[in-house]
Amino acid sequence: MSLVAARNLGFPRMGKRRELKFALEKYWASEVGEQSLLATAQALRKEHWHLQVDAGIGVPPSNDFSLYDHVLDMAVTVGAIPRRFMSPDGPVSLAAYFAMARGAQDIPALEMTKWFDTNYHYVVPEFEAGMRYALRSNKAIDDYLEAKALGIETRPVLLGPVSFVLLGKPTDASVSRSQVFRLILPIYKELLKRLASAGARWVQIDEPCLCLDLDFEATKMFSEAYAVLTGTSSLPKLMLTTYFGDLGANLDLALELGTAGIHLDLVRAPKQLDALLAKNNSSLKISLGLVDGRNVWRTNMNKATDTLEAAVRVLGKDRVEVAPSCSLLHSPFDLDTETKLDAEVRSWMAFAKQKLEEVSILSKGIDGRDKIEEELAENARIMESRRASTRIHQDRVKRSMDAIDDSMLHRRSAYPERHREQERFLSLPKFPTTTIGSFPQTAEVRKMRSAYRNGKIHQKIYEGFLQEKTKRCIQFQEEVGLDVLVHGEFERNDMVEYFGERLDGFVFSENGWVQSYGSRCVKPPIIYGDISRPKPMTVYWAQYAQSLTKKPMKGMLTGPVTILQWSFVRDDQPRSKTCQQIALAIRDEVTDLETAGIKIIQIDEPAIREGLPLRRVDWPAYLDWSVNAFRLAASGVADRTQIHTHMCYSEFNDIIDSIAKMDADVISIECSRSRMELLDAFHRVHYPNEIGPGVYDIHSPRVPECSEIENLLHKALEVLTPDQLWVNPDCGLKTRGWAEVKLSLKNMVATAAKLRLS
Ligand SMILES: [Zn+2]
Repeated sequence: MSLVAARNLGFPRMGKRRELKFALEKYWASEVGEQSLLATAQALRKEHWHLQVDAGIGVPPSNDFSLYDHVLDMAVTVGAIPRRFMSPDGPVSLAAYFAMARGAQDIPALEMTKWFDTNYHYVVPEFEAGMRYALRSNKAIDDYLEAKALGIETRPVLLGPVSFVLLGKPTDASVSRSQVFRLILPIYKELLKRLASAGARWVQIDEPCLCLDLDFEATKMFSEAYAVLTGTSSLPKLMLTTYFGDLGANLDLALELGTAGIHLDLVRAPKQLDALLAKNNSSLKISLGLVDGRNVWRTNMNKATDTLEAAVRVLGKDRVEVAPSCSLLHSPFDLDTETKLDAEVRSWMAFAKQKLEEVSILSKGIDGRDKIEEELAENARIMESRRASTRIHQDRVKRSMDAIDDSMLHRRSAYPERHREQERFLSLPKFPTTTIGSFPQTAEVRKMRSAYRNGKIHQKIYEGFLQEKTKRCIQFQEEVGLDVLVHGEFERNDMVEYFGERLDGFVFSENGWVQSYGSRCVKPPIIYGDISRPKPMTVYWAQYAQSLTKKPMKGMLTGPVTILQWSFVRDDQPRSKTCQQIALAIRDEVTDLETAGIKIIQIDEPAIREGLPLRRVDWPAYLDWSVNAFRLAASGVADRTQIHTHMCYSEFNDIIDSIAKMDADVISIECSRSRMELLDAFHRVHYPNEIGPGVYDIHSPRVPECSEIENLLHKALEVLTPDQLWVNPDCGLKTRGWAEVKLSLKNMVATAAKLRLS
């Protein structure tokens, strides 16, 4: 039975060489037709099924593949297709599908938002009044039959009905989620019936929302749903699949749903297995998520085998399966394609393909530890080499960590005193104007950067080019009349990668891409060891830029939480520790900038909110260490040095107290799209420091009128004092064109000048 017990919950869709990305982009650019795109997709599915079988996965998943997003696929399947995209009946064309994902001419796309606490974005289903829900797509059945025709039995994956409804949003006050739920439930039943007729014996039904705090309504939906979807022989058996956290208080609910199996994420929440084993009172099959589906490290197989043995002791061999903790959608494809990674660090790593090999080996351990003796010994050797490696552990860093005391988390004086010092030191006008950091990165800049990275141009030439760009950017800002300038960030590829490349403890893969949304992939830096800063990272450019102007130059840094959040993080110490190490490195950079004569330093933390744990009970601990990491980075400077931070999202209400605790002298935030409404949160907590609420939306090429900006500033002054208010755009200007930026900023500066006179 051994091999059969190895399962996978989902495989990366893009392909080893991101074939799907390129096929999609060619299709969208009308360079290839529908047939060509679909053929690429089919070839990828085939390749991935074979790869999984070869890796030892007994029954690989099907319908985990998607041309864009699996939540969108489910919306189309149940007919949650808003009227603006197509007439209510008729087949759903590929054009309509992509219009929902990406918009078309004047039709806005569905929104996207983060998939739980990952960096993957899903398409948010809309529930309109009068929507005609019906089974509108056979994709799940077609994919199952496609694999079957290749001789491969698969386990189809469906996003479960309750999570689907909870992840979507009613667009009309007359629509409730429970109404939508009742309308789609029969469609799920019909779909499951058809899958059973096609031959599917098991279906993986994903209900990740079971790992969230559930209200009464959601709990009721779960009970109702699975009363309908289980218990008859005409339906496939369901593997109720949870991930990204702990079932916690929902464990009893999950066990009562009557599914034939439950999958647990034992990487994120290892302790929940004991709770489940203690309740062993059924014939439930348990799928153990023992291999981390969200990171790049090898599994500690001996530890995983301990867990496996404990489960087998209680459940018996036939009731246990082994799987990754969650879908491998969040893992890079194949470590074998990495030829340039440091050999030692590489030996500690596993990408999707290697993770499946681990799953397969572990599943053989169901029949006894002795069956995988050799593999366990080899794994123990690798784990020990990692644990003891001097590449990972730097005494210097450990000593700095031990030396952190409370005084390092506080500026010398409280904000009012600092404010007075900064006023004298900076002599800025009322309503100071500035930008968030980056200026347009034209094709020319990207071309020069890639030429330099590929060794095609000499460092001297590249630096000369960057100096020229920086110089022109400063002239531009002086012409526009801004009060606080930035250097423009032409030397930076990415706000995390740039710093990762300059810090010890990071490595970079060549092909470690993971899907972010649609065809977009990101290649996160990999933090493998203690982090330290061998030398200053940004001081040269800040100092060079400051030498060209009498106006204050802002030094631009990425904050520790954001660097952590957008990297693959080592799993051998708590994230909070790793964050603290990054914070120490940034702190040194901050004080070096100050010493170099930079009077204002901005430490961006756009990712602090997305790091929030899934359950409220875990929020305070996270907010505590993340806010302290920022304070550690920011507090090494004199009172007169002004610390800025920037965040670009609009849901502040939940965490406004923590944002206040960061104690930045100035915070700039996205605000224009919400018409300054989110300032209410700042008002409510009497936010004491200065705020730059973005006065225009940089996501649009539109040039804002002075009157619009003035209206927004007046709105802001209803809740802020004139002393508190800064004037700046929403976010960095990297993606905009120079011409529109000039007009927009001129209007912004003119409006601030007018406000000073009134
Ligand atoms: Zn931003």
